Amino acid sequence: MAPGQVFVLSGPPGAGKSTVGARVRQAFPDLAYSVSYTTRSPRPGETDGVDYHFVSREDFLGKLARGEMVEHVEVFGNFYGTSRQAIADTVQDGRDLFLDTEVNGGAALKRAFPEGVYIFLVPPSPQELERRLRGRGTESPENIKERLARVAYELAAAQDYTHLVVNDDLEQAVSDIEAIIRTDRLRCARRFEQLRRLWGV
Ligand code: ADP
Ligand code: 5GP
Repeated sequence: MAPGQVFVLSGPPGAGKSTVGARVRQAFPDLAYSVSYTTRSPRPGETDGVDYHFVSREDFLGKLARGEMVEHVEVFGNFYGTSRQAIADTVQDGRDLFLDTEVNGGAALKRAFPEGVYIFLVPPSPQELERRLRGRGTESPENIKERLARVAYELAAAQDYTHLVVNDDLEQAVSDIEAIIRTDRLRCARRFEQLRRLWGV
């Protein structure tokens, strides 16, 4: 069976990755979502095992030491990482996987899955990004400052991504990402087995 595809969504904090990601997951129920591990506390409305696996620092370091993370990063005072097993099980099973990571995670995944689809999401302007980040009201002023300080670093990595989506109007951004996923699924390389089955070629 052909392996599944990986779709990675990155972009500066406040770009709208969680909002857009949730909509994309609704639109493609067959798309598996990689639930990351993190040591940060849940925000109001976030559910353990759905938005993240919320774990202690000790648990996270244990997973790292045992080699259970395919990639990880320490940002804004917390660890974030992707489970090696979850990715392998999904992709080897022929299922497509959607991940939301910051740019170092995106680069690590690109080394592991060079044929993957790497989508970079940006708000329409730096002012709007700051407004959304503050408007979300989930981080302390100090943490927001740290997040804003990292924006330029994240933007510089956009050139390594395969697609750029501007999240001005939410519906348009969601529709752009849906189009990217649909188009990738229509590529010949991904459909050749189907063609062989249908036409016996
Ligand atoms: P990220 O996951 O990239 O940090 P979020 O999805 O949490 O970003 O979005 C940051 C804030 O911006 C949230 O309060 C969200 O509701 C809001 N937001 C997201 N997309 C849009 C949009 N297109 N227009 C206006 N506000 C948005
Ligand atoms: P937040 O605290 O806003 O949920 O996430 C902070 C940053 O961590 C975001 O840029 C998000 O994309 C990133 N992130 C979430 N999960 C992972 C992961 O598993 N790996 C990496 N590298 N980054 C992640």
